[in-house]
Amino acid sequence: MDKLDCYIAGQFVSSRCYFDNINPVNGEKIADIAEADQDQIDQAVAAARQALTGEWGKMSVNQRSALLHKVADGIEARIDEFIEAEISDTGKSMHQVQTIDIPRGAANFRTFADMVKFDHGETFVTETATGEKAINYSVNKPLGVIAVISPWNLPLLLATWKVAPALACGNCVILKPSEETSSTAFLLAQVMHDVGIPTGVFNLILGRGKNIGDMLTQHAGVDAVTFTGASATGQHIMRAVAPSVKPISFELGGKNAAIVFEDADLNKAVAGVARSTFTNCGQVCLCTERVFVHRSIYTSFIEQLKQHAENIKIGYPKEPNVLIGPLVSKHHQQKVLSYYQQAKEKGAEVITGGGVPRFDDERDNGCFIEPTVICGLSDDDPINQEEIFGPICHVSPFDDEQEVITRANNSRYGLACAIWTENLSRAHRVAPQIDVGLVWVNTWFLRDLRTPFGGVKLSGIGREGGMHSMRFYSEPVNICIKV
Ligand code: NAD
Repeated sequence: MDKLDCYIAGQFVSSRCYFDNINPVNGEKIADIAEADQDQIDQAVAAARQALTGEWGKMSVNQRSALLHKVADGIEARIDEFIEAEISDTGKSMHQVQTIDIPRGAANFRTFADMVKFDHGETFVTETATGEKAINYSVNKPLGVIAVISPWNLPLLLATWKVAPALACGNCVILKPSEETSSTAFLLAQVMHDVGIPTGVFNLILGRGKNIGDMLTQHAGVDAVTFTGASATGQHIMRAVAPSVKPISFELGGKNAAIVFEDADLNKAVAGVARSTFTNCGQVCLCTERVFVHRSIYTSFIEQLKQHAENIKIGYPKEPNVLIGPLVSKHHQQKVLSYYQQAKEKGAEVITGGGVPRFDDERDNGCFIEPTVICGLSDDDPINQEEIFGPICHVSPFDDEQEVITRANNSRYGLACAIWTENLSRAHRVAPQIDVGLVWVNTWFLRDLRTPFGGVKLSGIGREGGMHSMRFYSEPVNICIKV
């Protein structure tokens, strides 16, 4: 794929302007990506509005569900192309793309295609003081035209996490993937086209958020915005949509803690924290960046985590046993490196990493970075407060349970936390006291698509997952009948 175009009103259309898609493994250009303009966004919105009342709007739930299963089949039938595209855009490891990113893309469609069949309204029988009766029942209608804005870290997975429930609920969608990772969204548009999703139901708008984001979110024909990305972008979008009071769903950044109690299974805890810190080169919103370890096991924990970090194989995405590839872009590499530099200048002890690996080949032009473990900074230091979004964690000791709960909660973010303990009572006692939307105990990133997913504070507004997604993408209408 050397040219990626927008998909509007059932057709792939050329744009006036294109920008470069860069491979983060070696810094080489791999494709031209279209940048949509106001006219194209107007056309996509008009097509989506028209589709709401056309064939799509008239379809039964069973027909809609069957079509969405075909989308999942279509992704699976072209799984090798999806894998290739995701790897070219992100440089992430073959193992991760094969086991997480692409299968989850298909699973998102299956989950919500099935779930919509069990969606139901509420009923209440009302009895008034004067002895009259009424029956209330609610029906769930689609919200309308949904702008889906997705990030680059799990491109297909996170885009479909929104597109699938939005379509299952009968909405029409305009997807704007990240400019860093447009390829799997482009393939998804082809699949939508090939399986016969009616014209205008799914539209793909490509381009850089800073140039076209406001055109989409502020469009009068867009009824709701669902966004996953940085908290600062979320704040911008919130201001942009305020005048029209559109529903918004926000999955934003995190500065997630892991807490390792003295009664944890140390081997499992170290392996778990290594996984939660370094997966996807630290570029998962759920990744751990702050680790609190009970003082009695602190030294052994640090020693073992260092070993884990140093055993990670970094390299070409398709090389056997490679766990992590590069960061997504030069720009992001510079950002993460600036935090590495800041940490050193502030006197942090670098346990391992802290720089860029050297390969003496084309990969030195890429965006690789070393898995890094540091310690010695205060909880209030920006390194422990700002989301870095790279393969780095800061480890510090703690002495008692209440202290570590307070310290874990000392963050403007509130997305996820992992607790490591073999003490069941402690797990139940501590978990609800952490101010986040997701707590894992003795595991991390173990997902059930039916469970609530989302954050508090700067980490977002609302929940996705299961019926929580279905509720966001539909408008309940109460009908009251006097009997
Ligand atoms: P980003 O905010 O830079 O970009 C996300 C999307 O927003 C992209 O499609 C981008 O083009 C678009 N965008 C940028 N400016 C816009 C504007 N003014 N109006 C509308 N759209 C605009 O985020 P990113 O760098 O792509 O992703 C990384 C961030 O996403 C991290 O902060 C990470 O924690 C967060 N994230 C959160 C979750 C979650 O579920 N909470 C999941 C994944 C990533």
